[in-house]
Amino acid sequence: MSAHDALPEVPQQLFIGGSWRDATGGGTFAVEDPASGDEIARVADATVEDGAAALDAAVAAQKDWAATPPRDRGEILRRAFEIVTERTDELATIMTLEMGKPLSESRAEIAYGAEFLRWFSEEAVRIAGRYSVAPNGATRLLTLKQPVGPVLAITPWNFPLAMGTRKIAPAIAAGCTIVVKPAGLTPLTMLWLAQVLKEAGLPDGVLNVVTTKSTGKVMGPLIADPRLRKLTFTGSTEVGRSLVEQSAQGLLRVSMELGGNAPFLVFDDADVDAAVDGAMLAKMRNIGEACTAANRFIVHESVAEEFSTKLTERMQGLKVGAGLEDGVDVGPLVEEAQRDKVAQLVADAIGKGATVRTGGVVPEGPGWFYPPTVLTDVPLEADLRTEEIFGPVAPVFTFTEEADAIAMANDTEYGLVAYAFTRDHARVIRVYEGLETGMVGINQGIVSNPAAPFGGVKASGFGREGGTEGIEEYLETKYVGLAF
Ligand code: NAP
Repeated sequence: MSAHDALPEVPQQLFIGGSWRDATGGGTFAVEDPASGDEIARVADATVEDGAAALDAAVAAQKDWAATPPRDRGEILRRAFEIVTERTDELATIMTLEMGKPLSESRAEIAYGAEFLRWFSEEAVRIAGRYSVAPNGATRLLTLKQPVGPVLAITPWNFPLAMGTRKIAPAIAAGCTIVVKPAGLTPLTMLWLAQVLKEAGLPDGVLNVVTTKSTGKVMGPLIADPRLRKLTFTGSTEVGRSLVEQSAQGLLRVSMELGGNAPFLVFDDADVDAAVDGAMLAKMRNIGEACTAANRFIVHESVAEEFSTKLTERMQGLKVGAGLEDGVDVGPLVEEAQRDKVAQLVADAIGKGATVRTGGVVPEGPGWFYPPTVLTDVPLEADLRTEEIFGPVAPVFTFTEEADAIAMANDTEYGLVAYAFTRDHARVIRVYEGLETGMVGINQGIVSNPAAPFGGVKASGFGREGGTEGIEEYLETKYVGLAF
């Protein structure tokens, strides 16, 4: 579908209490196409009053929503899954326009993101407590699960749909109402989804969407409001830390899906071709703008040259261009600051001795493009060993001993995901037990799956999204002691 046909389908106002409305005072802000820098839309710029109105709507709807039969909650999510799936082409165009990724990547995100709607439509009817006999036999112990209450969800720009549905779907399934604040760079996808959920029958006030450029100012009072019961955040570790601090005042329940610095280990017994396939996925999915992106390739010295050469050939074969163009594999980065950061990390590595095997040069012309890049001989002092690159840059480090590889992998403040390629089963167990991450991919370059618990440890945050664990984030356990 063309931009001309897709963009008019997106609401550009705030979604509060089931109605679309302008921001108080009528303020708006621009959404830009990263492939050209052109303005593609203007959306409402919510004020503090608008944020408060969104929470009021969520609070007002909470009691009835919690009492809505689980099957009815699930059916709305299921209908939304079907609408999103049917309208994939339209949403893919919108997503590519605001975020930059190629259409094929947008479609892949839509399939992944929609799956959370279906998965949690099925989980809504499986919420259960337990019943047991107290050890002394005198009483009965009953536990029940109840919705936490109104939720605030703050989401990033890199997966504008999936990072939202991973929170919205379990919250709705659990019986929670929700206020969502999408990233300022990519608000259109979330506004589009709100319209779909309304069409699917979601009652007024259960979902509210607030777009704003005064993010801290508008979110602060919501986080401080005692009627809010849960904050769920996906984004950078820096912002996550500040939100945890703010939440501590009211002892707000929080989930944090934060940054990553994924190691990708290739052992001497690995199938190197399979490792290169996995590396392309782990590095280049979403143009490298993923928290799960492989940030450090840690390769046994005996296969490092073969791996680097094959990886370089594959990276050179990728077509860079605007995401809406046919056959493009690598779109622009999301904004100028992001490209500057990637270019700076590469310049730092080169300055400290890294060899550029391909890429590494910022192209001329409009848009925030950066070429697929492979660096070898990367010294341990390079900043990109410790910082999240968030771009299409693959630095290769080498190791000799298995224990050193695991120690290198763990030598980071982050702990989201790690990948390892090896054909030795005993090593597989040593490796996944030894890695300090919330997720591990063995002989595969992608771990994200709506049926699995996604989340990190250390500075990558806490809480899990997806799987049977994901809905627990939105449920409280109440215990009742029954005497007789
Ligand atoms: P970000 O700058 O932390 O922003 C994330 C969200 O937080 C945006 O909606 C942003 O709003 C909002 N925000 C910023 N400052 C805030 C404040 N003071 N109070 C309340 N909200 C605030 O992160 P990003 O650049 O969008 O996303 C990239 C980061 O997300 C990377 O570090 C990546 O690893 C991480 N990420 C983690 C996961 C995971 O599951 N672990 C998944 C995806 C991404 P504005 O847009 O208005 O600034």
